[in-house]
Amino acid sequence: MVKKKVDMRSGKTKVKSSQQVEEPKQSPLEATVHKMLLQLGEDPERHGLQNTPKRVAKAFTFLTQGYQQDIDELLNGALFPIDYDEMVIVKDIDFYSLCEHHMLPFFGKCHVGYIPRKHVVGLSKIPRLVDAFSRRLQVQERLTVQIARTLQEKLNPHGVGVVIEARHLCMSMRGVEKQNTVAVTSEMQGVFRKQQQTREEFLKLIR
Ligand SMILES: [Zn+2]
Repeated sequence: MVKKKVDMRSGKTKVKSSQQVEEPKQSPLEATVHKMLLQLGEDPERHGLQNTPKRVAKAFTFLTQGYQQDIDELLNGALFPIDYDEMVIVKDIDFYSLCEHHMLPFFGKCHVGYIPRKHVVGLSKIPRLVDAFSRRLQVQERLTVQIARTLQEKLNPHGVGVVIEARHLCMSMRGVEKQNTVAVTSEMQGVFRKQQQTREEFLKLIR
C-alpha cells in the first residue's frame, strides 16, 4: 500500500510505502547544535527551532569554507606578466570572518596594495583571496598577515601592504561603550616596510 503524506516541516508531499520511512539522521554538527540549544535552556523541538540545527550547521559550514579552499588553485592561471611597476590598490573589500575566541563575527574592510615586479594578479582574485582566509576561525592580526604574506610569496612583488579595519561583535555586543570600536591592523612587506614614502602613499590612497 502506498500513502501520501504532507511533511509539516518542508510542506512537501512525501510518498511513503507502508513501511515507515525513517527521518534523515542529524549530522554530527547538527546534533551538536541540537545539544547546545538544550544546554542553553531552550526546547529544540519547539516550532521555531525545529530546523535550527540544520540551518546553523549549514551556516557555519559556509562561514568556514576557507579551510577547503586551495590558495594555489585560486591564484593559478591568474598571474599575468606585465611591464608595470606602479602601485596597484584594491580597497574597501568587504569581508566577514569569525573570531576564534568566541566564534562571533568580525567584519569590515580590507585594503590591499602591491607594487608588481613582473606579474600582476587578476583583480578579482584579491577579494577571493581575502574570502578564503576570512572564512575560517581567525584573529584579525593573523588574517592580515596571511593575506600579505601569500601575495608576497605567490606574486613576488616589490612589496605588499594590507590594512584591515573591523568591528568585532564579541566586543560590541558585550558593552555599551564599545559599540563603535574599530580595530585596525596592518602588515607591510618589502618596499612597503622599507620605504616610508611608499607606505605613506599607500595609506593616503586607501583613506
Ligand atoms: Zn572574540
